[in-house]
Amino acid sequence: MEKLEQRARGGDEVLPAPSAPDSSAVALRDVRKVYGRRAAAVTALDGVTLDIDRGTFVAVMGPSGSGKSTLLQCAAGLDRPSAGEVFLDGVDLRRLSENELTMLRRERIGFVFQSFNLVPALSAELNVALPLRLAGRRPRRREVRDVLAAVGLAGRGRHRPAELSGGQQQRVAIARALVTRPAVLFADEPTGALDTRTGRDVLTLLRELVDVDGQTIVMVTHDPVAASYADRVAFLVDGRAAGELLDPDPATVAARLAGLEPDRHEADRHEPDGHEPVGLEPGGEKLR
Ligand code: ADP
Repeated sequence: MEKLEQRARGGDEVLPAPSAPDSSAVALRDVRKVYGRRAAAVTALDGVTLDIDRGTFVAVMGPSGSGKSTLLQCAAGLDRPSAGEVFLDGVDLRRLSENELTMLRRERIGFVFQSFNLVPALSAELNVALPLRLAGRRPRRREVRDVLAAVGLAGRGRHRPAELSGGQQQRVAIARALVTRPAVLFADEPTGALDTRTGRDVLTLLRELVDVDGQTIVMVTHDPVAASYADRVAFLVDGRAAGELLDPDPATVAARLAGLEPDRHEADRHEPDGHEPVGLEPGGEKLR
């Protein structure tokens, strides 16, 4: 690729190597991900190209199995694509060794999960300090308290997860994801385990992080209301980009999503009593 770049600079007939625009916090170029081999191979991502500008909040939506989680994993360097390129904060992830990728994940990326994933035996403060310790730093109590205060948990630092509500636990998880000042905060269904009102509070917090601090956020969600907090919704179907919405509102997102559901008729056949197929309703991901 270096050769290609050199030839492109000096010559004329060779296309330049793909690169990420400077404004992108995350850029995917024709990313493919295939799990398994031969007859068992599943194409989870089938050539996705996506740019996420710095300081923006992007929601990723699509039917179940459309590749949303895989996209997040590849974009966050948690998994390597089978083909294509991922640039994170301008860094071409293909060029990183496993160790370098681990360092980048620890220091440049924050990840928030549906299930909080806090360490139960540790206080909120120690949970938040964990990424700094893993990065070989000695956390200062002040910086840990500041980030807890920023997510509305001033004074709760000594509490263990079990002593906090679900919404508060997710705030601790967000504080933990932010403590290293990551270039991108990735969130996989961050409100999926929360009741509607608590979920909205967490989404308001995410929105503020973008508006006030210029944080870049990429969030996978099933919930059109959650997606409406984003600046932009990118849709996926069968591992391919399927359009996007700017300044989304819940009704438009829900309508677009319903149009993308390949299993709608099949789901209707399985739901003779007329229930909406799971995943179409706001908050439908809570159903098990
Ligand atoms: P979504 O998040 O949209 O539900 P996923 O990214 O989880 O979709 O999955 C996309 C496709 O890849 C699905 O068909 C899923 O079964 C498959 N898949 C995901 N992870 C794995 C894995 N580790 N091994 C094999 N297949 C996988």
